[in-house]
Amino acid sequence: MTRDYDDTNIFARILRGEIPCDKVFEDEHVLAFKDIQPRAPVHVLVIPKGRYRSFADFSANASEDEVVALIRAAGRIAKEMGVEDPGYRLLSNVGDDGGQEVPHLHFHIFGGRALGAMLPSAD
Ligand code: AMP
Repeated sequence: MTRDYDDTNIFARILRGEIPCDKVFEDEHVLAFKDIQPRAPVHVLVIPKGRYRSFADFSANASEDEVVALIRAAGRIAKEMGVEDPGYRLLSNVGDDGGQEVPHLHFHIFGGRALGAMLPSAD
């Protein structure tokens, strides 16, 4: 997968402050905000501030500080949003087959209701 990064993507624009977001968390390496089209009562996006197009790119190229910050933030945000118990889903879509629409790494946190099967079918 290419390391090319599109600086015009919507999350890059949010990070530059060009468009607003409903922020729930921010630190040196991470920003988290509510999804604009929520699929569950809790639907938060957790993104690195660095220019990484996908989890594939991030896992291969991010610094250890960035990796730790993103993972710790995701867990902390889920807890603070009140979904750690009874549970939630953490998901990152990668590339075309993964259904990734925005080419800046993001983890979705879904929760607030029983989420059902992981995928609708095996096809
Ligand atoms: P994905 O299909 O995994 O790339 O998910 C992209 C997500 O970004 C979708 O759930 C969109 O609803 C969400 N999204 C797109 N634009 C915005 C925005 N301006 N603010 C918050 N969420 C957004």
